[in-house]
Amino acid sequence: MSDLIRKSVQAMAGYVPGEQPKGEDIVKLNTNENPYLPSADVQDILSMIDVAVLSRYPDPVCIELRKAIAELHGCEVENVFVGNGSDEVLALCIRAFVERDGSVGFFDPSYSLYSVLADIEDVEKKPVVLGPAFQWQMPDDYASSLFFLTNPNAPTSMQFSKANVGAFVKDFKGVVLVDEAYADFAAENCMDLALQHDNVLVARTLSKAYSLAGIRLGYCVGNADLIGAMYKIKDSYNVNYLTQEVARVAILDQDTMKANVQAIVETRKITAEKLSELGFEVAESQSNFLWVKPLDFSAKGLFEELRKKNIVVRYFGNDELTKDYLRITIGTAPEMFKFLDVVEELMRDA
Ligand SMILES: *Cc1c(COP(=O)(O)O)cnc(C)c1O
Repeated sequence: MSDLIRKSVQAMAGYVPGEQPKGEDIVKLNTNENPYLPSADVQDILSMIDVAVLSRYPDPVCIELRKAIAELHGCEVENVFVGNGSDEVLALCIRAFVERDGSVGFFDPSYSLYSVLADIEDVEKKPVVLGPAFQWQMPDDYASSLFFLTNPNAPTSMQFSKANVGAFVKDFKGVVLVDEAYADFAAENCMDLALQHDNVLVARTLSKAYSLAGIRLGYCVGNADLIGAMYKIKDSYNVNYLTQEVARVAILDQDTMKANVQAIVETRKITAEKLSELGFEVAESQSNFLWVKPLDFSAKGLFEELRKKNIVVRYFGNDELTKDYLRITIGTAPEMFKFLDVVEELMRDA
């Protein structure tokens, strides 16, 4: 291949995002998006924006948005970094906290982007394989410069207890980024740890609970020195004006986010119960998706049959650890009833 391209880039595989199928009748349960509308204030602010402001650069350090986030979590603006999706936050953590001869840790399975980001920066990866039933399993003497701890974990949907996470970060020598993309759907979260420990960052996103995957806004909270380092190296204007405004009003409207989360949690419960009755192994979800193992059907076969019926779920077939499972995003109640009807029908015909 071309010697114009860095060897590490030639050797790596890029991240493969979930499919975004187009079509009226498709029930899209594959990328953990929120099926409900975001805050009505988002529509209002977009209607009110004077396009003349778009000829100017946006605030490079997003002060008004960070004030809203700081208020929400009871910290200072200096403790908040905002990025172009939490994906950018994760990438900047590697650039800011991992030396060339350092390493990046994460659980296997967890969010598959971490491995790609480590490859982009050409640093060592130190994955930690989870124990039976995807439980917490940290080897003795484990060390890495940075650890991405997804909690609740994806794609397994399960939460590691705050007590376990707290005990781990206390003795860990590197930076721990607790990736809480799904924390709004969970019983507990680790935000306190970011404000108590100098080496802990907690990341959140507006893509899931706030129904705003399209604006690309993620943030992390933690020690002001770590946050300052991230500000030093980010792109000058990493969060555009429209996103700053939309994100700010969405965060100020906690009621809408919580009502949507409540609806999803209720639908999650009904869907999980029904799938258990149908003979699926269903993990205890603390997120907006279910991690299920069909017992009388191959996961791959079910994935393909559902696709034929215009129902799209996520299948991670390339990995031994995940190939027997499907990840199913919780949609609206009617979408989930349709999904359950089709599953029941397929099982009857099998
Ligand atoms: C969805 C997701 C993200 C990405 O969030 P964006 O803000 O949309 O970039 C990060 N981490 C995990 C674990 C996710 O599931």
